[in-house]
Amino acid sequence: MNEGGYDYDLFVIGAGSGGVRASRIAAGHGARVAICEESRVGGTCVIRGCVPKKLLVFASQFAEFFDDSAGYGWQLGGAEFSWPALIAAKDREIDRLNQVYLRLLEAAGVDLHMGRGRLLDAHTVEVNGQRYTAEHILIAVGGRPWMPDIPGRELGITSDEAFHLAEQPQRVLIVGAGYIAVEFAGIFAGLGSEVTLAYRRDLILRGFDDDVRHAVADGLRGRGIDIRYQVEPARLERVEDGIRVSYSDGSRQTVDAVMFATGREPYTWDLGLDRVGVRLGPGNRIEVDEYSRTNIDQVYAVGDVTDRIALTPIALMEGHAFADSVFGGMDRPVDHANTPAAVFSQPPVGTVGMSEGEARDQGFNVRIFRSRFTPMRYTLAGRSEKALMKLVVDADSDRVLGCHVVGPDAPEMLQGFAVAVRAGLSKADFDRTIGIHPTSAEELVTLRQPVAE
Ligand code: NDP
Repeated sequence: MNEGGYDYDLFVIGAGSGGVRASRIAAGHGARVAICEESRVGGTCVIRGCVPKKLLVFASQFAEFFDDSAGYGWQLGGAEFSWPALIAAKDREIDRLNQVYLRLLEAAGVDLHMGRGRLLDAHTVEVNGQRYTAEHILIAVGGRPWMPDIPGRELGITSDEAFHLAEQPQRVLIVGAGYIAVEFAGIFAGLGSEVTLAYRRDLILRGFDDDVRHAVADGLRGRGIDIRYQVEPARLERVEDGIRVSYSDGSRQTVDAVMFATGREPYTWDLGLDRVGVRLGPGNRIEVDEYSRTNIDQVYAVGDVTDRIALTPIALMEGHAFADSVFGGMDRPVDHANTPAAVFSQPPVGTVGMSEGEARDQGFNVRIFRSRFTPMRYTLAGRSEKALMKLVVDADSDRVLGCHVVGPDAPEMLQGFAVAVRAGLSKADFDRTIGIHPTSAEELVTLRQPVAE
């Protein structure tokens, strides 16, 4: 027991990216820390998100490499793909990472309590009937997939189940057009499924730069994905040969799986938040300030459960900053400006800073630099798809406000350019930088003529 009479200095609810990072850093600052987890240590990203998703993306990309190899002189025998083998290999890797996370907590001296945590008051958490008191409580419970309430929705799956399907569905409908929808559309299509993507509006990836959205939509279509706009499934029914989907426009389709990628909601129910009076904002996200403080003293929240950006590195940054501020004697407000992001669609997206639309809406006098070209690897392969490179520049200050890439290796490319945009570098700084030849990335330092002002 510590000086305040509490069992712990910090009790963390949820052992995902944000919770684990916060608990380890707090323990490193000398705090007595406990964490609870009802599922598996590692959270959404490691167990049922970014990591297994990227493994499936890798698996699905081989199809393109096999196709392209003929242009480089290879002759391949009939390649066969086994879904169960992929899922088993992926599961082994996730088990390994889960163990790594468990060891990290142990090495940091953090007590792990397996079970669902519920707040009894602002200093007490109950896990499996055991009560633990702590001076500070951190809520890091993340989010859960959300599905629209249509008849037959129980026949559908979300990304959670997609990772564990016993068989590969041959015909897949994906509902939605955000990150998860376009990533899984590419995964299933690459692995040979027939994929339909249904979206209620008129262009995928709302919120991204319009040129990026068009480039990805072209790339998905080029890979045989049937994108249907202005429709939503209105009803699902089990029929002899699959699931019959009745759309809002009266059309019908039968598929083997319907995957809803229609957004995620914060996992705020049945946590005791109402008992303690923790304030929720729109969409039931926990409202926090720049120190991740809720409206209740000494109760904090980080990651997808809050009203900020739902990305793993953001949860890590928030958890780290929280622990440094509360237990490390530092002053570390969080800063979400110029958060880079990637969509592991095929073709993939890397982006940082403002889209052209955002910059114009904010009143910047913008200058746009854009290049569309065939990546070198595609030449001998005979692939006509074009990559996109785009810079959004403030004409008055010459500062690069946004950098957007669609094409092979875009996510890898953007990490470095994110440093430049974050540092507020100018177009002239980009121009002074020598290109690396022959790469696609060099285009970003050789864009000479603006295409629009
Ligand atoms: P997104 O918010 O990205 O996309 C949700 C999609 O579902 C949108 O196309 C949205 O349409 C649609 N939608 C929402 N409500 C309905 C409805 N009632 N009926 C039909 N369609 C609907 O969510 P995701 O689930 O794809 O991903 C969740 C978050 O997880 C992302 O925002 C991202 O922060 C994170 N993530 C990040 C990844 C990465 O970094 N690569 C990968 C995966 C997830 P509309 O545009 O009309 O609202």
